[in-house]
Amino acid sequence: MDDCIFCRIVAGEIPADTLFEDDELVVFRDIAPQAPVHFLVVPKKHLSGPAAIAQADEALAGKMVRVAARVAAEQKVGDAFRLVMNNGAKAGQVVFHLHLHVLGGKDAPWPI
Ligand code: 5GP
Ligand code: ZN
Repeated sequence: MDDCIFCRIVAGEIPADTLFEDDELVVFRDIAPQAPVHFLVVPKKHLSGPAAIAQADEALAGKMVRVAARVAAEQKVGDAFRLVMNNGAKAGQVVFHLHLHVLGGKDAPWPI
């Protein structure tokens, strides 16, 4: 989608501080971190949010969690990290391309 900021990051049109990438996912640091470690796990496929995950996307959604945990370990947060997915503007979603927040590091609990 042309007007989707995360599709533009996936396409390489907007730079991001990328921690992991494969054919299905890209993982990059949040531009406005809410914790010492705060990155986003983003599917390359455009889905508007968690409510748009279809049965055919279940493997992808599960992979998002697995990769989140792996990159969290690489970022040395130990076993303390939080996963957050917002759905809908009223829940605080501002980017309508599915993403999983991963928060960790010192000073838990984190605000999101
Ligand atoms: P939401 O509130 O939609 O769950 O979270 C969207 C997140 O994306 C926010 O934490 C925000 O800081 C982050 N974000 C928005 N635009 C950009 C961007 O252009 N680059 C990066 N790296 N993060 C972004
Ligand atoms: Zn998108």
